[in-house]
Amino acid sequence: MLNLSEIFYSIQGESTYAGLPCIFIRLAGCNLKCKYCDTKYSYDTKFSLETQEILNKIKIYSPVKLVEITGGEPLLQEEVYTLFELLNNNNYKILLETNGSINLQKVPQYVTKIVDVKCPGSGYEDSFLKENLKHISFGKDEIKFVILDRHDYDWAKDFIKKHDLQKYIILFSPVLEKLESQKLAKWIIEDKLPVRMQLQLHKIIWGKDRRGV
Ligand code: SF4
Repeated sequence: MLNLSEIFYSIQGESTYAGLPCIFIRLAGCNLKCKYCDTKYSYDTKFSLETQEILNKIKIYSPVKLVEITGGEPLLQEEVYTLFELLNNNNYKILLETNGSINLQKVPQYVTKIVDVKCPGSGYEDSFLKENLKHISFGKDEIKFVILDRHDYDWAKDFIKKHDLQKYIILFSPVLEKLESQKLAKWIIEDKLPVRMQLQLHKIIWGKDRRGV
């Protein structure tokens, strides 16, 4: 049985999959409490379902086969691994959004991981498990930095250099209403940084406070 916050179908708003129709399975609960968290509602369980019941629910969105498992922090619930297997057996392309603080070793290769490295502005700059770098696949998985201010930007830049991540898929995302996207864009351009800047497309389309979209 998995504890959930919501299941919905929309346009993917982040990562290199942004813009594609996608099913979202948001699991409940998080081990962090980031200062800028925009999904605080996911901390509490809204309903619980067996993995097969989740599959039955998302089948109504057929033929969409792109599914994102997010949270909260999805890896806190052991049964998520059963869900990965079930979705993979049913030919879903699986994206996993995870906050970087939980060991990724057991996440199967067929899952595309989008892994946060929390910057100082989140309040959790030490939360990233460095050994997770071994489990992030070059060319497939994505590493995401959410940037609050210039300090976060410089910190992220140093982190990339220190861990030699330049060739990985790196996402830089400004904290909505805290950092102007133009500022972040200018910094990236000035530094010729090999990162992909992303805005939360779903918030641009539907508005920042709409849920389930
Ligand atoms: S890890 Fe994600 S869900 Fe958890 S508190 Fe931080 S932003 Fe919110």
